[in-house]
Amino acid sequence: ILISLEGPDGAGKSTALENILPALGEGQRELVTTREPGGVPVAEMIRDIILDVKHTNIDSKTELLLFEAARRVHMQTKLTPALEAGKLVLVDRFIDSSVAYQGYGRDLGLGVVDWLNDFATDGLKPDLTLYYDIDTDVALKRIMKNRADEVNRLDLERAEMHRKVREGYLAAIEAEPARFIKIDASMSPEAVAEASIVAIKERFPD
Ligand code: C5P
Repeated sequence: ILISLEGPDGAGKSTALENILPALGEGQRELVTTREPGGVPVAEMIRDIILDVKHTNIDSKTELLLFEAARRVHMQTKLTPALEAGKLVLVDRFIDSSVAYQGYGRDLGLGVVDWLNDFATDGLKPDLTLYYDIDTDVALKRIMKNRADEVNRLDLERAEMHRKVREGYLAAIEAEPARFIKIDASMSPEAVAEASIVAIKERFPD
């Protein structure tokens, strides 16, 4: 079983993942947690490149191709073997991140991103995707809570990007509603974790 966790920056997705592990560890299936970009050494190296060049305005198409390269090597060497062994795999970000960030956020469009996702994964889709939904203003406040409240140009760019990313996620859900469960990420970390556990256990009772 493959479950992906998705959401814009500031949604608390990684915290949710940590908080749901204890409850899922009690199940019968062996649990594997991993992340994108990364999860295996080669993909972690690509992650370092991506996060490094993010600050130097790398061309969006190059960025997309790096994400997809990391996706493929991670899938081939970690996801697929774990799924074939019958494990429950939780992945922090997967194909929908590229739809939201590169397709919408960077305006590359759905056609090319869907095609490249499919190419990189041989069509592998999560059995379930937990989408952590957060209002852009709330998310930006969370991200910048340690900073003074002044709004500058960078913040406005960031807000615009965040809005587009969220719009991308909502479009992905609209295209495949059965695959997603939307979780209100403005709740407390405990409530978000509880909602996640309930969603997973309802979908996969064993
Ligand atoms: O999930 P995580 O916060 O570790 O992601 C690392 C960074 O990469 C984040 O800033 C996220 O916005 C960005 N990202 C991206 N495009 C993706 C996946 C992540 O820009 N497809």
